[in-house]
Amino acid sequence: MKKIKDQIGREVESLADDLFTVSDFLLANPETAFQEFKASNYLSSVLEKNGFEVEKNVGNIETSFFARPAGCPQTRPTVAILTEYDALPEIGHGCGHNLIAAASLGAAITLRRILREKAGGLVLVGTPAEEGGGGKALLAEAGVFEKMDAAMMFHPSSTNIPGQGMLGRTKFKVEFFGRTAHASFAPDQGINALDALNLAYGSINAFRQHLRPDGRIHGIITHGGESPSIIPDYSAGLFYVRGASRKYRDELLEKVRKCCEGAALATGCQFKLEIFQPVLDPMKRNPSLEAAFMRNMQEVGIEIDADDGRQGSSDIGNLSQYLPCIHPWLAIVGPETAIHSTGFRAATTSSRGRKTLLNAAKMLAMTAWDFLNSPELRKRVKEDFSRIG
Ligand SMILES: [Zn+2]
Repeated sequence: MKKIKDQIGREVESLADDLFTVSDFLLANPETAFQEFKASNYLSSVLEKNGFEVEKNVGNIETSFFARPAGCPQTRPTVAILTEYDALPEIGHGCGHNLIAAASLGAAITLRRILREKAGGLVLVGTPAEEGGGGKALLAEAGVFEKMDAAMMFHPSSTNIPGQGMLGRTKFKVEFFGRTAHASFAPDQGINALDALNLAYGSINAFRQHLRPDGRIHGIITHGGESPSIIPDYSAGLFYVRGASRKYRDELLEKVRKCCEGAALATGCQFKLEIFQPVLDPMKRNPSLEAAFMRNMQEVGIEIDADDGRQGSSDIGNLSQYLPCIHPWLAIVGPETAIHSTGFRAATTSSRGRKTLLNAAKMLAMTAWDFLNSPELRKRVKEDFSRIG
């Protein structure tokens, strides 16, 4: 066992310059959700040069891809290493997905070299549009993960933890429809859509103090009228509700709907609530697979931080409802640098960012190796998956 882990470590180190090149290419060519054509072509070509056959446009998403070791028929169990490569508008790789892609390629190429003709249980899935597009949710719904037994990736962060809760999330638009009128000559003839949205926002705010600790509601007003002299006949806002279970997430949406209904009734407006797809599910964590990753964090010499309980949402939540998944976070910055910032983007090429990339590749390869080679671990992972709702 120790021998294999040392070998994984050495293989990843030998790929270091190539992996930095992958990360830097993505950094220099940022593409937002569903537009990652350069990235998916580039990553596919690197994989093809390293003994993989690549299928593009899987699950009906043009910028997705699916790579398996060339000449190795698929065997079970199969472990999927996930690759994100989309960037943010304006700030490019401020979420560090360039490091995710490079580390996942590093892990897959390393395992391919070590397992040789026995690499049939290894696949790498290129999952586009994590930022707002829910690529993993769409791929899972399309059945891309049907013949797989576990999936894993890492995400850069300011802490080192093998996993963290993630909230389910529904994004939606609220619109109110009223009637225009001159605000001074004939206010009695108008129906004020801005007032309706204002009342709805106020009711949502009042409700917010009654949320459970795992609930979140936040929103903005995107349309509030055209001129103070015209009673607005249209208003609109964008909102998120989040909850740690699908049930609570959906309950919160219904509460918000009631707030909107009440505001519509009070003002005489009509209202419409439109949900944006995909709706994100909470992360179904797998303690046994996280523990396997944690042992490899120790193997690589990484000190494990306490979980501060902060939670966001990601499309891996949806995937985690289909098969056991882990999404460990590994530090490339200190707590003073926020994710989704230019500082975080800069950290992806810092010496700490580079080191984390290599460590992540090692730990992913080690954990995938453990999963493929330990029936005992697989049994525990499977038990967790069926036990945890
Ligand atoms: Zn991200």
